[in-house]
Amino acid sequence: MHCPFCRHPDSRVVDSRTSDDGASIRRRRQCPSCNRRFTTVETTSLSVVKRSGATEPFSRDKITGGVRKACQGRPVSEDDLALLAQKVEETLRSSGSAEIDAYEIGLAILGPLRELDEVAYLRFASVYQAFDSLEDFEAAITVLRAERAERAAARGDEPAAATHVDD
Ligand SMILES: [Zn+2]
Repeated sequence: MHCPFCRHPDSRVVDSRTSDDGASIRRRRQCPSCNRRFTTVETTSLSVVKRSGATEPFSRDKITGGVRKACQGRPVSEDDLALLAQKVEETLRSSGSAEIDAYEIGLAILGPLRELDEVAYLRFASVYQAFDSLEDFEAAITVLRAERAERAAARGDEPAAATHVDD
């Protein structure tokens, strides 16, 4: 890339640093012509295609903002929200595509949100999947219950097993 000061077409990398979350690399560069230094930041590009067809850069803040609303009054901390947004971004980046449909972001949120808080999950899912009847809620709750029972069975802590007494 061109030197921003003198437009020299070449530069030398003097330092490279990966950001804490591993999503970007900062490079300190020096221009061999004017010797001035500048910084470039390299990220894999990730854009969101909105329903209107417009695109905007992916933003973790938008994820936490949307999920925070669903978590009102629930025992969910800002750290939980930040971690969830990070998981969502990792999921989306692992798909390898540079453009993500807004709908896919909602899908990527549902999984980690369900693990975080089931009530917040139901609130979020009801908006995102446009629940319009009690039956929609019932169906979602049935799935949650079945999964909870499965997890309990996998851990081996079914009430029947716990209260079993040897004779
Ligand atoms: Zn220069």
